[in-house]
Amino acid sequence: MAMTADLPSVAPPPAGGWGPWLAEVYRRLRERFGHRQWWPAQDGPFEVIVGAYLTQNIAWVNVEKAIANLRAAGLLTPAAFHAAPVEEVAACIRPAGYYRQKAERLKIFCDYLFSRYGGSLDALFARPLGEVRAELLALKGVGPETADSILCYAGGYPVMVVDAYTRRLFYRLGAFTRADISYDEMQAFFHRHLPADTGLFNDFHAQIVTLSNRICLKRGPRCGECPLADLCPRQGLDEGERP
Ligand code: SF4
Repeated sequence: MAMTADLPSVAPPPAGGWGPWLAEVYRRLRERFGHRQWWPAQDGPFEVIVGAYLTQNIAWVNVEKAIANLRAAGLLTPAAFHAAPVEEVAACIRPAGYYRQKAERLKIFCDYLFSRYGGSLDALFARPLGEVRAELLALKGVGPETADSILCYAGGYPVMVVDAYTRRLFYRLGAFTRADISYDEMQAFFHRHLPADTGLFNDFHAQIVTLSNRICLKRGPRCGECPLADLCPRQGLDEGERP
């Protein structure tokens, strides 16, 4: 991995470099939480794509209800979803919030899939990563996190999904010098210092979400239970939040 000057919002590397440090962070998280087996999807890549849209601005438990409704209605295939009236889709995904907007945007994805790839996800995901990512980002309602979730978890591309949890955790860990580091810079940090391994990116993101939900909480992080405690300067935490 590159050992050249890092990105502007990344701290100078620790002894040994960021690659081994990241590998150690991942090793500890996996040891603590086990492989996270993401993305849970009984119905395959199309369900992952639907979930990636639905999870925007809503807790996953609500997404599960919406997906269960779509499954019961037989709409978890591209063909069935594409053929269904937008009102039917909206009614199914109501538990996921912003349901009219999300239904419209998912229909736009299906229109794109059918007009460009004949409705075939295999054909879509046979294309080069950069081209597919650019096409996804051009769709209404698809930002980098949604696009990368689709690419990694549905398409199997070696892409690290980063998010607000990643920003908070790696700022606290001292890897990022700014609490407002950009999405692209965060992602470049992982891509630069880890091998391009879909399985690793898949599970590393899941581990970060798990630690952030269970231990490295936004308020009152439980540092005494944290597998990363001895690596962490707790940057940005108030004195009162430090154990
Ligand atoms: S030691 Fe505390 S602040 Fe650091 S990663 Fe763990 S829970 Fe978060």
